[in-house]
Amino acid sequence: MTVDEINKKNQELYGPRCVQCDLYQTWCRCDSYKEWYARFKNKKPIKKRMKYIEYRQNASRTLSDIKEMHKVESDELLTNLNLLHCIIGIMTEVQELREGLVFADETNMKEELGDMMWYIANYDNINNAEDEELPEILVSSERFDLKELNDCAELLLDMWKKKVFYNSSKHNRMIENTFALLKHNVVKFCNAAEWDLDVILATNIAKLKERYPEKFTTAGSDNRNLNSERKILEG
Ligand SMILES: [Mg+2]
Repeated sequence: MTVDEINKKNQELYGPRCVQCDLYQTWCRCDSYKEWYARFKNKKPIKKRMKYIEYRQNASRTLSDIKEMHKVESDELLTNLNLLHCIIGIMTEVQELREGLVFADETNMKEELGDMMWYIANYDNINNAEDEELPEILVSSERFDLKELNDCAELLLDMWKKKVFYNSSKHNRMIENTFALLKHNVVKFCNAAEWDLDVILATNIAKLKERYPEKFTTAGSDNRNLNSERKILEG
């Protein structure tokens, strides 16, 4: 076998060689390898990614203005209503994620995870949570553990019910811990499926820009162009 033949064989087995480190794609860990690999393969441009801190800033743009909508005067009530909006939203997105799983619709599952992250990000925003990126979970062997997400969402809903409607502060610490666990579980879910959560976050913001070019409006919510949204989701 000639050197060229060996190189050709290796490229078939391990992908093209990185222009920076000269390793085959299988072993290359250069930051830019995805970009040149896409060029080499003449594929679609690499998908946009967004880290959580940047995502939080973008997510706040499309939060509905319930103060104006319902003339809420109490700041405490307004905060509680906004947080309840997020908690209810997390619960409903878990159910939509379940439907995506039943129909094995990967695009839809990623969409619902993005939607869930929107509520999580706005929950952090309303609480003025510190700027902190999402936890890194390097290894995860479980796949599609929806129960963990569902359990966190249900528990949060129950504790928030007691907090707002029974005026109880007994569960505040548990709410904090459960919310942190929920975030952890979303990251774990994506890792188990080998999905890039940063791409899911960027795609979610792109979808919301299509739905609400300026800011949230009831008309934009009621008249969604699902075809163009789906195109954005499919990339
Ligand atoms: Mg959804």
